[in-house]
Amino acid sequence: MNWTRRQFNGMAALGAATGLAAGARAQLSTRKLGYCIVGLGRISMQHFMPATKMSQNARVTAIVSGHRDKAERMAAEYGVPARNIYSYDNYNGIAGNPDIDAVYIALPNSMHAEYTIRAAQAGKHVLCEKPMASTAADAQAMDDACRKANRKLMVGYRCHFEPAHLRAIQLIRDGKLGKIEAIDSAFGYNIAPGEWRLNKAMAGGGPLMDVGIYSLNACRRLTGEEPVDIKGYSAVVDQDGRFREVEENVSWSMKFPSGAVASCSTTYGANMTSYFRVLASKAELYVEQAFAYEGQHLMAVMDGGPPINEPSSFRDPGCFVREADHFAECIFSNREPGPNGTEGLRDMRLIAAIYK
Ligand code: NAD
Repeated sequence: MNWTRRQFNGMAALGAATGLAAGARAQLSTRKLGYCIVGLGRISMQHFMPATKMSQNARVTAIVSGHRDKAERMAAEYGVPARNIYSYDNYNGIAGNPDIDAVYIALPNSMHAEYTIRAAQAGKHVLCEKPMASTAADAQAMDDACRKANRKLMVGYRCHFEPAHLRAIQLIRDGKLGKIEAIDSAFGYNIAPGEWRLNKAMAGGGPLMDVGIYSLNACRRLTGEEPVDIKGYSAVVDQDGRFREVEENVSWSMKFPSGAVASCSTTYGANMTSYFRVLASKAELYVEQAFAYEGQHLMAVMDGGPPINEPSSFRDPGCFVREADHFAECIFSNREPGPNGTEGLRDMRLIAAIYK
């Protein structure tokens, strides 16, 4: 991984902000957190699991899958013993397994709630992929269950660990851009037919649930505010059978207490370069490839100052490594994770408001 001095300083500041207690540091030096991977699909096999190979604090110790052959292949790659391979039928067996500290839920959205709640009841901490659930009610039930069981819950918002995002937020908080006037952002892709993401019961909604959530979450983090008003439109352009149950396009606007406004869009009908752009009283800031797995590029034109032009030198799976490590650190030091259940629930409620 190639770190520029500025990025290194940014991450050091992040580390200081989330400063580890001495006890946690001691634990980190003696053992790694054991993750049980629930669901062997694209995000787990191509991103999260490979990231654990580079993790300082975490490793894969168990697997839950409906496909025994695939599970055995992955178990061999990650050094997971056969006794730690579970199916969905014997998932409750994780309760008695001391190799498992936390589960990583990488299932279709509608399954997040059940597998999170069962993990908490089994005494395990939960890192659940975004969106937190397929409904706000399920997200609330997940948060309640983890609190009741005194287990930590983190939502897999990898962009919370993305240096370009952290740098943008820092520039804003330091007052370098002046006051935020407006933000615009978009993320979408051309979805293949047959995906579970097109099934309303499994996905909870269309691109807003899947990738629009990145723009929504970024607007909240960039402003540091919660929207007071929100309005949206949805539509289907391609009458090709893919969008019988979920929308193809959503665009929505939000107003924040400071007066900042945001305008976002998402689609399942077009491949695009994701971005966010912040128009502020002293500068314009743009992050290209904002929500991609790699290739972020932050640019800013400042009133009376030199422009900022910072292509990311990070390569995937950088933010997944930091995400896995952050949750481990929070568990070892008994701290609330950055993107916790409350954070995930807020987005779920706003998504419900946009659909309404
Ligand atoms: P995927 O379809 O590739 O994998 C889903 C997994 O769930 C598969 O292993 C599948 O076998 C399993 N599964 C169990 N029961 C199933 C059922 N009834 N129907 C379908 N699959 C079933 O999906 P994915 O792209 O890996 O997405 C999984 C989750 O991760 C989603 O919630 C998604 O939003 C999230 N995700 C997050 C990111 C990120 O960058 N943080 C990126 C992609 C996906």
